Amino acid sequence: MKQLCPCGSTLSYQNCCNQIHEDLSQAESAEQLMRARYSAFCLELIDFLYQTFHPQTRRFQKKAEIEIWAKENNWQELELIKSTNSTVEFKAYYIDMQGELHIHHEKSTFKQLNGVWYYYDGKMKA
Ligand SMILES: [Zn+2]
Repeated sequence: MKQLCPCGSTLSYQNCCNQIHEDLSQAESAEQLMRARYSAFCLELIDFLYQTFHPQTRRFQKKAEIEIWAKENNWQELELIKSTNSTVEFKAYYIDMQGELHIHHEKSTFKQLNGVWYYYDGKMKA
């Protein structure tokens, strides 16, 4: 049986975010990269998460912190609210270590560099 992609696309993982996880230049839009980043949290692909930070913001990131955030939370579902060319607003549902359900509501900004999409930064929404 094929594994469905964690991003909720209803495609198999092989035909969806896996292609971007293997080669991040495969993301053709900000939304595709956003989905692949969510899937990477589900699958604990820490290097991918780190690599998809835009070089200008990556230096503020710590792999160990990304790893804790990915592993301590149990990622439930991704809900896309609104996408534009360079932004994606989404809600990510997760259960924390205390068993409480949370909603991470963010508007992310993405930028291209040499034709490759990167996550630039995000603003939390109330
Ligand atoms: Zn996917």
